[in-house]
Amino acid sequence: MATTADTTFTKHPHPSPVAADVRAQVLANPGFGTAFTDHMVEIDFAEGKGWHDARVIPYGPIALDPAAAVLHYAQEIFEGLKAYRLADGGIALFRPEANAQRFNASACRLAMPELPEDVFVEAVRQQVLADKDWFPTVEGGSMYLRPFMFASEAFLGVRPAKQYKFMVIASPAGNYFKSGAPAVSIWVSDYTRAAPGGTGAAKCGGNYAASLVPTAEAFSRGHDQVLFLDAAERKWVEELGGMNLFFVFDDGSILTPELTGTILPGITRSSLLTLAAEEGLTVREGRYSLDQWKADAASGKLVETFACGTAAVVTPVGKVANHEGEFLIGSGGPGQLTQKLRAKLVGIQRGEIADTHGWVTRI
Ligand code: PMP
Repeated sequence: MATTADTTFTKHPHPSPVAADVRAQVLANPGFGTAFTDHMVEIDFAEGKGWHDARVIPYGPIALDPAAAVLHYAQEIFEGLKAYRLADGGIALFRPEANAQRFNASACRLAMPELPEDVFVEAVRQQVLADKDWFPTVEGGSMYLRPFMFASEAFLGVRPAKQYKFMVIASPAGNYFKSGAPAVSIWVSDYTRAAPGGTGAAKCGGNYAASLVPTAEAFSRGHDQVLFLDAAERKWVEELGGMNLFFVFDDGSILTPELTGTILPGITRSSLLTLAAEEGLTVREGRYSLDQWKADAASGKLVETFACGTAAVVTPVGKVANHEGEFLIGSGGPGQLTQKLRAKLVGIQRGEIADTHGWVTRI
């Protein structure tokens, strides 16, 4: 649903922001997703009125009617992107318009109103500017931004709600993987994540709720992430709980699962497809079975596998396990191409390598 928006952001600074010494401690060791900045952005939507009352307000709890539709039917979507401190001290967002587009694609799938792309990007910008003192001081740190939208209408009938809230919160971020391991170990789940015709391509909370049991199983077995196979044949590699996958072969080609509607179209995935082609690799989007992956790893045809996403950037996969056993990729450590692509992407994101694609938006 296309919508109208009156979006002049009013600003309400926090009366008692986090003390500078406490903030400095957080920024020296931010972890992932546990600390939040002083402010947040909120915009309301009502049918007939469109988007209104855009505001930057102190971070804090929100009042919600117990009958709010999101609490019952999970009408909720979100995004994840990062702001970076550049080498020259400036601040930049990486491809925020791509997040805005994906957000609206998710909105359409969940019968929610679209937010104009320029309003999405401006909301994110306002959030970063309000808390620009919250960039981590650790190597590789960034500000993780979480835009989200949910149905706030108090109504228990099952139909698309007529009222929504869009919000942005921010969290200083260090390394995503707790172990900080050079190569991660993944567990191939017997559960599936998304069926054909379902919501797999949308970034909706429900997809993640359904992935929690399989993820907990992966953790309890000592792995870092869960991998899902397709729901129809239980054969084809789809993606990890929060990352897309790439396979690197000894003939100089690189493969990633194609976008069939059951996996999330990652923005890191799309960026790496471009960068890999520029490196002279043959880039393919297609199907790859777990059996073939195992066979290619054994024969040496497959030389590297890596996972990618906003939070994890580019992370090598060293080990793959399921109920039948496990196999190693290459030497089990980070591969050359994985490191090269990671360095290129991070360099562009941080303004150390020229941005020839118009991906970096200074704010
Ligand atoms: N797949 C899933 C299921 C995810 O949650 C994410 C993280 N958004 C990704 C892939 C990677 O997407 P992106 O590169 O846009 O962060």
